[in-house]
Amino acid sequence: MPSAAPVHPSAQGGEDLFEVSLRPRSFDRFVGQRAVVENLKLAIAAAKARKEPLDHLLLSGLPGLGKTTLAAIVAREMGTQLHVTSGPALVRPADLVGILTNLEEGDFLFIDEIHRIPRAVEEKLYGAMEDFAVDVVLDQGPGARSLRLSVKRFTLVGATTREGLLGAPFRARFGLQEKLDLYPATDLAAILLRSAESLQVKLDEEAAGFIASRSRGTPRVANRFLRRVRDLAQERYGNAIDLEVAGEGLERLGVDGHGLCLLDRRILATLLKHGGGPVGLKTIAVAVGEEERTIEDVYEPYLIRQGLLKRTPQGRCASGHCREILDQRETGLLF
Ligand code: ADP
Repeated sequence: MPSAAPVHPSAQGGEDLFEVSLRPRSFDRFVGQRAVVENLKLAIAAAKARKEPLDHLLLSGLPGLGKTTLAAIVAREMGTQLHVTSGPALVRPADLVGILTNLEEGDFLFIDEIHRIPRAVEEKLYGAMEDFAVDVVLDQGPGARSLRLSVKRFTLVGATTREGLLGAPFRARFGLQEKLDLYPATDLAAILLRSAESLQVKLDEEAAGFIASRSRGTPRVANRFLRRVRDLAQERYGNAIDLEVAGEGLERLGVDGHGLCLLDRRILATLLKHGGGPVGLKTIAVAVGEEERTIEDVYEPYLIRQGLLKRTPQGRCASGHCREILDQRETGLLF
């Protein structure tokens, strides 16, 4: 029977070593998102006082904002085991049943990309979340019987980049629902300064602010930029990052003064090439060589927030501001 990968709360699996070493392990080290953190702390304290498992928790927000990190911190605070799986991995209801029946009392089951679980699996989850039981069908045809298996009282933690794709009945079953927002540059700078400490590279505040302001409001992006700039600093500049080194590092990565990377500019250039749009997502995906889902989840939210792209029922459109950022010469050069 399949089972979710158990991850002890003090360790984290599934990410590369760099991410692991930078992932905050306690609320104290988790920067920003104060309202979310306060709500979670309160819920944890109350559940602990009642000696009950934590209510089911839904964390939503764009990729890289800290959903997995928070799930691990909450599990650690509750002193329970965290089991990790993802929506696309739960293909059949049997996949889920195998995981659920292996959970211990109070365990956390973290399902990343929970909006991608198939409907039949979602329906199985309903019973498990509410009644802590799952029905399994034995045999086929006229002799088929249904057997009810009990499940220990667990906490489901769902993470989603697309809260809107979750049906209302499913969403309603999560007693705790928290949404993570993009981080202000000041928070990202604080994250970068801490990460630089962990990576043992000198980073001055001005450089931290510079990288932060180009990191799309996303800690994962900020840390990724830091890692690359650190390579440069280590090889050429005595392992110290000042404004100049940060500037050179980001330029090498193709990140411009607006925080746009090459792919962002390609998306915008595609819109401009089609007279500013509307252009269908499929066409954009083919033109820039990236998956539709990635464009929607990773690139577009930032472009929309920057006022450079609009989603309309007919397709994507460039905003006026977009032309000023990408001049015709650049549009031509990008392809
Ligand atoms: P998500 O699950 O939302 O995609 P993650 O939890 O994997 O995001 O976070 C990506 C990385 O960003 C983490 O490994 C961690 O290093 C960093 N990170 C995210 N949020 C924070 C935060 N609030 N404070 C410090 N680092 C963070």
